[in-house]
Amino acid sequence: SRMVVAIDGPSGSGKSSVSRGVAARLGLRYLDTGAQYRAMTYWMLQNKIDIADPAAIAADAGAPAIESGTDPAAPAISVDGHDVAVAIREADVTGAVSAVAAVPEVRARLIALQRQIIGIGGIVVEGRDIASVVAPGAGAKIFLTASEDARAARRNTENGGGAGTVAATREALTRRDSVDNRTNALAAASGAMVVDATELTLEQVIDQVARIVIH
Ligand code: C5P
Repeated sequence: SRMVVAIDGPSGSGKSSVSRGVAARLGLRYLDTGAQYRAMTYWMLQNKIDIADPAAIAADAGAPAIESGTDPAAPAISVDGHDVAVAIREADVTGAVSAVAAVPEVRARLIALQRQIIGIGGIVVEGRDIASVVAPGAGAKIFLTASEDARAARRNTENGGGAGTVAATREALTRRDSVDNRTNALAAASGAMVVDATELTLEQVIDQVARIVIH
């Protein structure tokens, strides 16, 4: 199938697990655009680019060679030929990615790359601006959301944190949301179906999204 499925939503909504699950179930490829913004940020940090200086980021936005795999069973991401799948989840990257993603030259470069990968379709694409900017012609548009408590709890578990660190995780998440919301409204695009994952299991969310897609 040449279908493009756009899945947008804030951090901690379960976007990645849901997107991979839907792609696997429907036999589609999978693209994690957040991983590309993280890979760009990782390169900027490695190369000591001042994250507080948008002009410095813009000047080097074309430098890193970023490659994304599209197998939902084994998402891969590399920068200049190095596997960075683990490194891009570290706290330093997470803390800097919103500022890097706000730079127009970074977005232009990665959006062009994303459109190249999407090609003729057959892919589930997750991000913040997929339905609105990257692939406005997508055949299915999902806005995946969850309560702030549920998102903080999920992100905290992913980070291996215990109950005592939920408050800090929630604060970091709220801070990232507020910067991300200035770059791309954290709201459903026109024509998008809203799925609230707060009270649902992963399987239930995948079922619901898959049902929307094949409709
Ligand atoms: O999805 P994930 O939380 O890994 O995304 C990391 C960051 O990348 C987001 O906080 C946001 O700043 C940026 N991003 C973006 N546009 C996308 C995907 C991610 O600006 N399509």
